[in-house]
Amino acid sequence: MNPELQFPFPEPPEGGEMFEINENLRWIRMALPFALNHINLWLIRDTKGWTAVDSGIANDATRHCWNNILGHPDLHDGLNKVVITHYHPDHMGNANWLSKKMDAPVWISKQEFETGKSVHRASEGYDPRSVSRFFQLNGLPKDQADLAAQKGAHYPQLVDELPEKPNTLKDKQTLDIGQAIWETIEGTGHSPEHMALFNASNKVLISGDMLLPKITTNVAVYPSHPDSNPLAAFLQSIERFLSIPDSTLVLPSHGLPFYGISARVRQLKVHHEYRLARVAELCDTPKSAFEVLPALFDRELDAYQTFFAMGEAVAHLHYLWSAGELARIHGSDKKTLKFTKA
Ligand SMILES: [Zn+2]
Repeated sequence: MNPELQFPFPEPPEGGEMFEINENLRWIRMALPFALNHINLWLIRDTKGWTAVDSGIANDATRHCWNNILGHPDLHDGLNKVVITHYHPDHMGNANWLSKKMDAPVWISKQEFETGKSVHRASEGYDPRSVSRFFQLNGLPKDQADLAAQKGAHYPQLVDELPEKPNTLKDKQTLDIGQAIWETIEGTGHSPEHMALFNASNKVLISGDMLLPKITTNVAVYPSHPDSNPLAAFLQSIERFLSIPDSTLVLPSHGLPFYGISARVRQLKVHHEYRLARVAELCDTPKSAFEVLPALFDRELDAYQTFFAMGEAVAHLHYLWSAGELARIHGSDKKTLKFTKA
């Protein structure tokens, strides 16, 4: 447990059960078949029916859970909206199924939906070949790069179909749900146009993946945007949460609901500053992203973890490169990208 945060609900609901956060809010948790282990989903009471926030991955276990929940007497008025924070499979995977079953339209930001489409179709830049080439360019040996790119390419299995004609969510949009106004807060760096939802009158923030109490949000560079600086974008985005009162209850997609926004934002900044300093130090002599992995991850990485770790390593290097602290050069093989003190 994080000693600087308070966790008012230490016992998460079992899969297929609902936990009552308050009269107008329910917490659902669904299992995930990978290291992340679970995702939290939320139901907000509307004037008639409920608004679901996020949907789980598209598999039988998720749908079994949803069928149980939708059969609960509290939900006899059904769902009237499915709000998706971002395109990642644990959030958007089951959205179309849920939307069709409940005749409830999906709401998602434009860039999240477009990115989901690109990944689903394995468009150029989002396909395993591009990913493998990008990882090799950043120093990962070819066999490992091929394997990591393949392991990372499971999107279409977890998102069997995309939402049809979703409604578009924008930053600072107000959603009138039941008795309350929820305002969207855009964030980037983890995904292109992530939407958190803030209810100021009841002081509740549905933070999605942008503010998690235990793990740190994945921030990575991939070949669709090979020169981007998502870590700067992420650190700027989480600053926005500092304008929210600390007495706000945060409902994250992974881990337990918590109080302590400002402490968590500070911890995340310190976490990345420490890692940036270690990476910068290593780059006294030219290093590729592959060569700085040990500075960021002090454990063995399997192929799946390597997919995320390589993206994160490039993100840390790009932050320092964009800040002018490091220069990007070609290694002695004339192919691999390396970074060194500017
Ligand atoms: Zn995510």
